[in-house]
Amino acid sequence: MSNAVIRTEFLCKSFGKLDVLKDISTEIYQGEVVAILGPSGSGKSTFLRCLNLLERPTRGRVYFNEYDITMPKANISKIRQRLVMVFQHFNLFPHMTVLQNVTYAPIKVKGIDKQEAKTKGLELLTKVGLAEKADVYPAKLSGGQKQRVAIARALAMEPEMILFDEPTSALDPEMVKDVLDVMKGLAQTGITMAIVTHEMGFAREVANRILFLDRGYLAEDATPSEFFQNPHCDRAKQFLEKML
Ligand code: ADP
Ligand code: MG
Repeated sequence: MSNAVIRTEFLCKSFGKLDVLKDISTEIYQGEVVAILGPSGSGKSTFLRCLNLLERPTRGRVYFNEYDITMPKANISKIRQRLVMVFQHFNLFPHMTVLQNVTYAPIKVKGIDKQEAKTKGLELLTKVGLAEKADVYPAKLSGGQKQRVAIARALAMEPEMILFDEPTSALDPEMVKDVLDVMKGLAQTGITMAIVTHEMGFAREVANRILFLDRGYLAEDATPSEFFQNPHCDRAKQFLEKML
């Protein structure tokens, strides 16, 4: 039995005539922290969104724990409980308090007891350093705080894997570190993570693997030390010259 949490086979995605992902075949294994790098427009977000079917692949397959989630009869909402996404713009519910944001899905979707969800939610908020904000509305938070709430909300589902799409790109520079520190802590817990990011230092230090996308192709699949010291393709070399 393979221990791939995610496996893609010839994953293709087109929007009309625009071919965005081209035959991506790869696996992400349990406990891996995979950084997905590449120029803007190379298909990173689309790739991530195909993994939990926020985008439907045009061709090819996506397996989650070896279960083909691209089959028409696959239960997508169930899969998304275990394969959650953290977005660049947080996507918090504005009309709910911080704690309600964190407990909403466990109560509504997973049917967890309210009190239990609350206790767990407060624990998670403590973990991300925001227990004192439990009763505040998102509008009162800084970007970095919002993103930490979004991470607590994702964790409240007790997911098997978390997908992060540029979680720090919308933040003021002084907020970035707090969020990266939370993610670094998470990475050490052994949860499987795939992170689209432009934070090269973070990718190098925290990821165990780098996937580099170039115009919809998976152009490199390497360890961070290989990728940063000796990238194979010219596009990756150019990319790194710009980023570092
Ligand atoms: P990245 O995250 O690497 O910047 P994206 O995956 O967001 O790249 O986008 C890759 C390409 O697909 C871009 O040319 C983008 O304009 C296009 N694209 C993404 N989403 C859509 C969509 N829903 N409809 C049409 N084109 C899209
Ligand atoms: Mg993107």
